[in-house]
Amino acid sequence: MNTNSANLMALAPNTSNKRETVCIFGTGDFGRALGHKMIQCGYSVVYGSRSTQISNLIPKDAEVLSHAEAAQRAVIIIIAIQRQHYNFLTPLAEILHGKVVVDISNNLKLNQYPESNAEYLAQLLPGARVVKAFNTVSAWALQSGALDASRQVLVCGDDMEAKQMVMNIVHALGLTPLDQGSLLAAQEIENYPLQLFPMWKFPVFLSLGLTAFFFFYCLALDVIYTYVYENNNFSFFIAITIPNRVCPVMALILLGLVYLPGVLAAIIQLYRGTKYHRFPDWLDKWMLCRKQLGLIALAFASLHAVFTLVSPIRSFVRWRTSKGIISQALNNKTEPLDTTNAWLSDSYLALGILGFFFFVLVGITSLPSVSNSVNWREFRFVQSKLGYVTLILCTAHTLVYGGKWFLSPSAYRWYLPNIYMLSLVVPCTVLVVKFVLIFPCVDKPLTQIRQGWERNPKSSE
Ligand code: NAP
Repeated sequence: MNTNSANLMALAPNTSNKRETVCIFGTGDFGRALGHKMIQCGYSVVYGSRSTQISNLIPKDAEVLSHAEAAQRAVIIIIAIQRQHYNFLTPLAEILHGKVVVDISNNLKLNQYPESNAEYLAQLLPGARVVKAFNTVSAWALQSGALDASRQVLVCGDDMEAKQMVMNIVHALGLTPLDQGSLLAAQEIENYPLQLFPMWKFPVFLSLGLTAFFFFYCLALDVIYTYVYENNNFSFFIAITIPNRVCPVMALILLGLVYLPGVLAAIIQLYRGTKYHRFPDWLDKWMLCRKQLGLIALAFASLHAVFTLVSPIRSFVRWRTSKGIISQALNNKTEPLDTTNAWLSDSYLALGILGFFFFVLVGITSLPSVSNSVNWREFRFVQSKLGYVTLILCTAHTLVYGGKWFLSPSAYRWYLPNIYMLSLVVPCTVLVVKFVLIFPCVDKPLTQIRQGWERNPKSSE
């Protein structure tokens, strides 16, 4: 059978469950997993291998031939071999001429080679129609059928028809093809599986750093100070009391840090009188990771809610309550209800509950599946307006809780302020600046600048 008739057979419309024949070069982990999945989905699979001996690892119903023989049996050839071995393809250039050659390879490091593996393959096989695909799914996910990782397969290539053929296969395997454009996108697609939460690095390191700082700050003031000056051993505070102080503080500071770059950007635009100058790099990067900062803040707020709920069952809290009751009984005196305190305590709880509710709402809306179902205006409303409502409620919750201590000298152990005071610096700054920015005399020029108006427009020559 000559090559052309094989091509025609492979492309012929199919009325049965059987799909076309696909050739896979390489009987390694990925080649076998992909072949297995393809056979399940009705494709005929023929392997091109250095050894034509069938091992029991090879999927049943698949054939194993030499590379040249296998390539002649299909229009689509998937190269399941590492890039460093691609040289063996050069003698096959003629057989692969006009065929759809799919590069699925990944590298060990970001930007490991000057050109992408797919572009390198295209240079080795100038007559082939090279398409990049499948490198974002793992052999394990394909083989286990669980597909518990991403189902998205990023596809790119210069030949539209070839790309469409590969996307049809991706689709038939129950995966989601995402067209990324021409082969120029291959480098980015190859770097994609090597990235480890790129947008999370800064928020995670910042959170870890601040958490460690506040933990040791509380340890010094609540455990070491009381041990040294009051001879009380409160070391058990490390388990719940200190985490329950650090978590709300972290949640509030990080939430403030989500909105701080927005007000800084507004100040910079007002100062420059234009939106057509780039922000400093650090501000750009900060703005890009606001969602991650917000989600970490939500995690701290959730932990705070759980720690607070377990308070009544803590031995220390039960001891303190019974001590109060017993001392009232011994003194034969019932303390009257302090309505001011009752008001403060109920208000701070109500503000906390409302703040947490809005916090969860804003967090849920930032999830892609939810944000995809709202339009841009609705998304902005939730993220910006409701986000500020959350910040106001959480700041008020902290102020009402800690307000009475701010002026008390006992709150300044070792002349240091309580962490609740420190936690208010960022959110209060953001809220005060935001309050100034919404004044009509400031808001009007800012809105004009954001619509393209310039204070000193460059004259066009
Ligand atoms: P592998 O298990 O090491 O298999 C590679 C296959 O390449 C070998 O089984 C062999 O097949 C062939 N080969 C090895 N040396 C060769 C040479 N000198 N000349 C010609 N062929 C040679 O690797 P793999 O995990 O299947 O990965 C294959 C490709 O898929 C890689 O580019 C990888 O980046 C990519 N990938 C893998 C995964 C994954 O989860 N494993 C995920 C995405 C992408 P024969 O013995 O049949 O000739």
